[in-house]
Amino acid sequence: MTLRLGVDIGGTKIEVVILDADGVERLRRRTLYPSRDYAPALECLADAIRAAEKECERCSVGVGMPGFLDPHSGLVENAFNTPYNKRPLKNDLEKILKKETRFANDANCFALSEAMDGAARGCAVVFGAILGTGAGGGVVAGGRVVEGRGGTAGEWGHVPLPWMTADEFPGPRCTCGRRGCIEQFVSGPAKNRERDAIGEDAAMARYVDRLARAFAMMINILDPDVIVVGGGMSKHEEIYTRVPPLLRKYTYHPDPRTLILRALHGDASGVRGAAMLWPA
Ligand SMILES: [Zn+2]
Repeated sequence: MTLRLGVDIGGTKIEVVILDADGVERLRRRTLYPSRDYAPALECLADAIRAAEKECERCSVGVGMPGFLDPHSGLVENAFNTPYNKRPLKNDLEKILKKETRFANDANCFALSEAMDGAARGCAVVFGAILGTGAGGGVVAGGRVVEGRGGTAGEWGHVPLPWMTADEFPGPRCTCGRRGCIEQFVSGPAKNRERDAIGEDAAMARYVDRLARAFAMMINILDPDVIVVGGGMSKHEEIYTRVPPLLRKYTYHPDPRTLILRALHGDASGVRGAAMLWPA
């Protein structure tokens, strides 16, 4: 039996998991980067994978990370908080490991994990939304990640907030350099800014309406069976109770059927989905 090794690359650490064919975790380890320099961080990543591989006879290797891997240049893009940004990480890692690897954006891995054996298990079209320090997104259709031509499919966080009101326009400056991105309205830090300014109840009322608009846009474009929500904000029950009745204010469909569900695997979804980039 082939085991599947998944790696989640974060800003400060590398997490490795090994899944068996049933999705049961055989091993899970965390490693901190020795430095922010590329060469030692690459070595550290390869070592973490090789050490975990000793626990299994044959492993496939899937890697999830922030930003994306440009399929044309082979370079990591927009993974600003990792030591691998603007580097040919996949090529370099495969040279060291002497095997093929698969890479995906961490939100895509999250969506894949939840579509395979999480909250959206068995659903044909799934949109995964991570509401944490940022707002990530990923699309899974028919059990496969939709990567896109340039590797950025599903990046809803860097679309302007839809149906923006006059007092919301043009919106705060985003990490991507533009103004008014959804991320600047629905991330954890965005919610906290509002709470500090206008209090929890008023901030939550604004939050659920903005999230309803952001989800309604995705429903208009993709009409997924399920939107599965992860990240630190996913613990707020209001996302599952107050957002769904607001959707019809904004969707083209008068009675949208898309379910909004909390992630089943929580923070583990990213690393599990990375392993699932290869079939069992
Ligand atoms: Zn942005």
